[in-house]
Amino acid sequence: MKLKILLSLSILLAAASSQAQDSLAIRKIYDEALVNGQAYDNLHYLCKNIGQRISGSANAQKAVDWSKKLMDSYGFDHVFLQEVMVPHWVRGDKEVAKIIDGSKEIPVPICALGMSVATPKEGVTAQVIEVQSLAELKTLGESAIKGKIVFFNRPFDPRFIETGRAYGAAGDQRFAGPSVAAKYGAVGAIVRSLTEIIDDYPHTGTTMNGDIKIPAAAISTKGANLLSEILKKSPGTKFYFKQNCEQLPDVLSYNVVAELKGSENPNKFITVGGHLDSWDLAEGASDDGTGVMQSLEVLRILKTVGYHPKNSIRAVFFMNEENGDKGGQKYAELAAKNKEEHIAAIETDEGGFTPRGFGFTGLSTAALKGVVQNWKPLLEPYDADKLVAGGGGTDIEPLKTAVPSIVLIGYLPDSQRYFDLHHTAKDVFENVNKRELELGSAAMASLIYLIDQHGF
Ligand SMILES: [Zn+2]
Repeated sequence: MKLKILLSLSILLAAASSQAQDSLAIRKIYDEALVNGQAYDNLHYLCKNIGQRISGSANAQKAVDWSKKLMDSYGFDHVFLQEVMVPHWVRGDKEVAKIIDGSKEIPVPICALGMSVATPKEGVTAQVIEVQSLAELKTLGESAIKGKIVFFNRPFDPRFIETGRAYGAAGDQRFAGPSVAAKYGAVGAIVRSLTEIIDDYPHTGTTMNGDIKIPAAAISTKGANLLSEILKKSPGTKFYFKQNCEQLPDVLSYNVVAELKGSENPNKFITVGGHLDSWDLAEGASDDGTGVMQSLEVLRILKTVGYHPKNSIRAVFFMNEENGDKGGQKYAELAAKNKEEHIAAIETDEGGFTPRGFGFTGLSTAALKGVVQNWKPLLEPYDADKLVAGGGGTDIEPLKTAVPSIVLIGYLPDSQRYFDLHHTAKDVFENVNKRELELGSAAMASLIYLIDQHGF
């Protein structure tokens, strides 16, 4: 009995001293991020000296070259490229649209959806049919849709607290809407921008082409509201739009990877990453310049504070998240081929806003309970202690199949402003806050430290 008490006492003491050690290590990580942070300056270079970097573009290649050089300059144990073939879609230079209400022509802001086809040279003019859902297309049927432009106008549901959920709930209109409308004989598709904010900026994003391809564009929320209002008064209203985007042959591109070698388990990996490619309307600052620069910063911080990880830690700049996810697929394929054991992968692709915490996929209920119990108190002083079930990201998702035991983790920053900027001309460096960005790098470096030290 006495021995038992002594044993549990010594376990308690050991746990307390390990907690104290962890607490100090995390304090050191935050101090480095907040006093000597480099993510903001690196992001400035990426946005202002390179700018937009849609997959397959010359700018995407510039971004790869610069990222590799930057990683080399930090003196990590290993910096390398992974070859990957990516689609090369180009927007073209003509995007115009107007509502034709009798003799009145009212211009509205649109942009082609990524991967869409062009309109004929003279553009498309047709009567508009407004719908709120894909199911409505089925109800309406071919007789009501054929020869028309389908206008998907279901707004973001403001009742969701996390805006990513509202995006998810409205997203089918953009991903699948145009190809489904094409099946019913539509000649074009116009999709309400996936955002809560009411303004004049259209939001691009990928649409999936079916067998029959029709031109598809996003309309600004203000434009969508106006079109809907006019349609109520004059159901015969027509819409005109013109775009000259095109799909070019696939291009050889790269994931860019930096690594700190594990001292105990060099073939076990913890990955943190975001995507280097961006949409072409702005600088891809929040989507996902912040994510890649934070991931790199995680490695820099750990190296600078003199942390020697037990497992190998990688920062991965994935290529082609936006319109193909080829980089994410390639990373997983190589992980399986090279028999790499992946413990966990964190994705940061929801903007560089104030950290809230992390979402976990692949942890048992008991393991998540342990994580909450042991790590929440350590992250709580930094307001990054929301540790919940469910999370991941497009780039790391394929790892789940390649390495079934992996834990996928989504970095959760505050989500309220992300969709104001997402996939628009407003996604520029000026809309990123230095401190918020740095707090995010520190939160991820801290979580990686904890995973590396304790596992799940
Ligand atoms: Zn993104």
